[in-house]
Amino acid sequence: MKTILFNLNDIELEKFITELGQPRFRSKQIREWLNRGAPDFSVMKNLPEDLRNKLNDIAETLPLKIVKKLESGDNQTTKFLLELNDGEQIECVLMRTTYGNSVCVSSQAGCAMGCKFCASTLLGLKRNLTVNEMFAQVLIAQWELRSDKLKDIKPNGDANNGDVSHIVVMGTGEPLQNTQNVIGFLERANSELNISWRRITVSTCGIVPGIQELSTWGRPINLAISLHAPVDELRSQIMPINNKYKLIDVLNAAFDFSDQQNRQLMIEYILLGKRDENDEIVLYNCSNEYAEKLSELLRGHNVMVNLIPWNTVDERDFASISGNAVHRFQDILIKNGIHTRIRRERGADIGSACGQLRLKRG
Ligand code: SF4
Repeated sequence: MKTILFNLNDIELEKFITELGQPRFRSKQIREWLNRGAPDFSVMKNLPEDLRNKLNDIAETLPLKIVKKLESGDNQTTKFLLELNDGEQIECVLMRTTYGNSVCVSSQAGCAMGCKFCASTLLGLKRNLTVNEMFAQVLIAQWELRSDKLKDIKPNGDANNGDVSHIVVMGTGEPLQNTQNVIGFLERANSELNISWRRITVSTCGIVPGIQELSTWGRPINLAISLHAPVDELRSQIMPINNKYKLIDVLNAAFDFSDQQNRQLMIEYILLGKRDENDEIVLYNCSNEYAEKLSELLRGHNVMVNLIPWNTVDERDFASISGNAVHRFQDILIKNGIHTRIRRERGADIGSACGQLRLKRG
């Protein structure tokens, strides 16, 4: 198996390089390339060609390789299908926005949570990702951004300087089933890439002890709760985790976190329809009654509800609801004083919108 240079510390890297008969300074040159997210050795033009060829035979740069890269039609979203060292595959999405460049990072290969509307869980959980595997996803996105200039893709907006500025841990996997590695990764992103805590979001389906661990960690990140239903009975039907951690306990832990960190709590709510026996689309979790119930749960708290119109996933048995129904649900929340926005679909044409991340092998 090839050695992954990114996983070596400075002393190990120097040993590896000097054992190839190379001077020590080469390891520093290589480290600089690794920290920039160099996808392979061919780009390391300040190394002699025979060393690049040798490294190519015996080593890898990063702990992930790009298998496939898809660009959305508007060039603003790039989805990477990445292969880990053991052959598992994950996805990561780069979104170029007017407020900066955001990377949606996966925290696990697969997911055990079994949410009924989500494609990421279809193959079950394979394993947790390491700190390096999460950090390398950001470096791959950063490398892509720096090569945008060559492709004549301009930063989107004045406030956007072209580097990764935001991280959302909202890709494949449940971050709070891998909490310590996620924390290690975010500490590194903050200290090495200078990404401010306030520009980092961790999304959970509601693992109460994990939310409490974030509170103990005590960084002012954004917490997003995938709620998707305002009553236990309905939530348990679409999110099995609700059988373990009840809705009110999840919300109380989340309110505690947001009060402690003085951060607005994000509530994610996918608007789902279903087909009835006449093949008509009926509202599943987004009736007027459910909008009122959701308002009751959230009233008086510092929250923002992100409404996410359902994106079709072939294997999942839900249907998209009309734009009118989306706005009706939103209007009730607004009338009740709940901050609400409808999330713009980004990259839906390349399957990178919420709930569409999945492994499509081959
Ligand atoms: S929504 Fe998140 S927690 Fe639920 S199955 Fe999908 S990846 Fe896992």
